[in-house]
Amino acid sequence: MSNNTLEFSPSTPIPAHLVSQVQSKLAYVDESITAAHVAETGDQITLQLRAPLNKVAAASLNSKIQIVVEMMTKGSFQPKVEVLEDYRDTPVPYDRDPMDELVASGEVSEEETGVFTFGPLFSRLVDYFESRFLELAASFGAQPYRFPTLMSARMLDRVDYFRAFPHSLTFATHLRADLDVINKFAEQASYEDGGLNASSDSFSRVKAVLSPAVCYHLYFSLADRPLPAENMIVTGVGNCFRYESTNLTSLERLWNFTMREVIFIGSKDFVLEQRELAREFMRPIFEELGFAYHVESANDPFFIGEFRKQAAFQNAFQLKYEVRARLPFKDDTLAIGSYNYHQDFFGRNLNITLSDGSPIHTGCAAFGLERTVFAFLSQYGLDQNDWPEVVKEALS
Ligand code: AMP
Ligand code: ZN
Repeated sequence: MSNNTLEFSPSTPIPAHLVSQVQSKLAYVDESITAAHVAETGDQITLQLRAPLNKVAAASLNSKIQIVVEMMTKGSFQPKVEVLEDYRDTPVPYDRDPMDELVASGEVSEEETGVFTFGPLFSRLVDYFESRFLELAASFGAQPYRFPTLMSARMLDRVDYFRAFPHSLTFATHLRADLDVINKFAEQASYEDGGLNASSDSFSRVKAVLSPAVCYHLYFSLADRPLPAENMIVTGVGNCFRYESTNLTSLERLWNFTMREVIFIGSKDFVLEQRELAREFMRPIFEELGFAYHVESANDPFFIGEFRKQAAFQNAFQLKYEVRARLPFKDDTLAIGSYNYHQDFFGRNLNITLSDGSPIHTGCAAFGLERTVFAFLSQYGLDQNDWPEVVKEALS
């Protein structure tokens, strides 16, 4: 074991269903951590560190880790995972990590950690898969909307976002409108030691963050008034940002990615029915596209303090289902989309009502475009001869 590796035993073993969720949160525990691994058995945590730690620092890190494990696991019980579709056995021809080939062929280049430029083949596949998600939108007659990349911090506060997902936020700021500040910045700013070298009091207070999701924009635009119709179905695509810390190691998790959503607003029954129709509509499409995948109940990646309660709530009320594609090269799965029901959460917090005065219910079908392509290439590789007919034809 090298000096840059630390091993801990959690005070209580981590139950199997929480191993990957705890592991992903360890990336946010301390800046000295470059990678974290929780053994499948849940009784050992291995951390890779930037540099060796002295005894005091290692003990302090240990206690931070123990707190995380305790907060996420204490009193938790295994959720009943509901599988709604199972096509995991669909045979696929490829079993390598496509990343090396994508980089070698210039199809993918990393501009900054988690920030990628994609070349023509990847981009055509993004457009094609998006066109299939647009078929879903068209089947509902969804109205097109355009949403900004920045999202109001004031509105996010109204929906308690800072408590649920503080770890993955990306803030938008600018220089304070002050001649001295701007001149000083222009003269002195430079990129050093992995960051911009400028004094932190040069920057404005945060009014906006980079959007972490798409559908929130629609709810914000409808706030504080009755819904103008009995229900609404809308579609939009947007740049989304989730800071995933040291988990940003491959195309599986990007800091900046694109999501196409179909958004449902109305009564509880209306939203639940549309969510189900969306899933049924997509099933033959995913099948035709040749994906080895399944759809199962899931929860959002809430931060440590909120995790146990909120994840259990989502599971109990079946608020989220994920479309999970197989990644044969690592014998794992990756969420490429989700079918969500938010109950009347946005209606209540944003004061949006139906004609009878009750809060609106909302839901969405959300698809990550880069992940869909990455999962497809992980299953089919870059050689178009090996692709399913429809995809081959669409790109020829
Ligand atoms: P969610 O709202 O978390 O269900 O996200 C919807 C979809 O967006 C997911 O199923 C993924 O396809 C995609 N997505 C979420 N987070 C990321 C990420 N960090 N990088 C790439 N795609 C993501
Ligand atoms: Zn959504």
